[in-house]
Amino acid sequence: MRKIKAEKEHLQTAKDLRNKLNKLTGSNMQTHDDLIHKLATQNRFVYVPGKTLGKKVYAFVDHGRWVAQCECGGAESVDLDSPIFFCCSCGNRSTTGRPREVIFPKEKERIESILLKRTDLRWKNWKVGESVESLEMEYSE
Ligand SMILES: [Zn+2]
Repeated sequence: MRKIKAEKEHLQTAKDLRNKLNKLTGSNMQTHDDLIHKLATQNRFVYVPGKTLGKKVYAFVDHGRWVAQCECGGAESVDLDSPIFFCCSCGNRSTTGRPREVIFPKEKERIESILLKRTDLRWKNWKVGESVESLEMEYSE
């Protein structure tokens, strides 16, 4: 018998990472802020929660995960429900530890529905500025 998935299928986000870490480590992180705080501390940075500051970062999809990238080259999982970014490579040096705002594409639902149909992770990508039409055309199974 096939198992029925309880949750709606979606691309991976920071929320999935948080749930996975909670399961693996027995921790009880409830919010994206909790996850950022934990990851920042592990990387010896200080996260200063609150209002977003500085340059915005743009979300894209890399191998089935929503991520955003910092100017320093660091990339992090981002959360559709909590669009804040903290870079664990530089500790959000440019905002001295304050969160930066994440911009998701307006067509994020369509992008997700197109990419979720693809079975091969290597094809589950969307880059900033790529049109939904070209995304639909680039691949067929
Ligand atoms: Zn950085």
